[in-house]
Amino acid sequence: MNSFNKLNIIKNIKNLDFKAKKSFGQNFLIDNNICSKIASSIPEKFNDTVIEIGPGFGTLTYILAKKFKQVLSIELDNKLYSFVSKKMSDLKNIKFINQDALKVNINDIIFSNFQNFSSVVLCANLPYCITTPVLTKFLKSDLIDYITVMVQKEAAERITAPLGDRSCGAISYFARYYSNPKINFHVSKNCFFPAPKVDSTVISFEKIKNPNCKNEELLFKIIKLAFEKRRKNILNSIFLNFNFKKEFIFEILKKCNLDKNMRAENLKLEDFINISNLISCNF
Ligand code: SAM
Repeated sequence: MNSFNKLNIIKNIKNLDFKAKKSFGQNFLIDNNICSKIASSIPEKFNDTVIEIGPGFGTLTYILAKKFKQVLSIELDNKLYSFVSKKMSDLKNIKFINQDALKVNINDIIFSNFQNFSSVVLCANLPYCITTPVLTKFLKSDLIDYITVMVQKEAAERITAPLGDRSCGAISYFARYYSNPKINFHVSKNCFFPAPKVDSTVISFEKIKNPNCKNEELLFKIIKLAFEKRRKNILNSIFLNFNFKKEFIFEILKKCNLDKNMRAENLKLEDFINISNLISCNF
């Protein structure tokens, strides 16, 4: 069963008359040690239930099935879905669904596939192109307790960057609002077939209780717009994107003890929360 190396993956690709699709981020792991390291990086206390996105040929899925009581694996590609669900049909603790992970309703798939669960983890070797939408969707979900995903190295560095660091962006604030993000380890592009152009990094997010924010949609809109034009100061960023007088924004910044010339990257998460809470009172 556990025969996932480069030769076997190539054999499967040939037998299935399969062509790896760039648009689905189909770079398959060919190093079992990396799969084991990914699974081991998830703390024991979350060993109950896991959702995997994109099993591919099942390299990581197989190792997750050994660690977790129940596994739900979501594959968008029809051929891979048929292959992997047949190949792993002997393993009774795994279910596969042939859907787009970006379109599933997380509550529905959890309650319709798992009877009892003490915690739910998301684990995936993610297609690079869906990193941000997947993280946005699963970090927001109250049912997800822990996330471990492999993403492009540069994306990992941005997502986990300390707030205030030059490399951080809106996604870094989003991640810190919902979790404690951290880098686990880096993975060379040579551990995949076909090899991607860039190296990867495995990152984890332990969910935290959300800070006290009155309007999350507004908070993330302010942060996103501020980072889209990060050279503008915060006063102008809010002024140009919302229908408020400059004096009003100036008053809000004063109440938050912020200088109007500060830029997005100088603001703490609490600063953005305070600004959005004060603005939301005037909506
Ligand atoms: N887990 C396998 C591995 O590590 O070798 C495959 C990882 S490969 C980087 C990404 C996988 O995600 C592919 O199997 C691809 O078909 C699947 N995929 C791509 N977009 C998806 C989506 N929106 N929903 C579910 N699966 C998706």
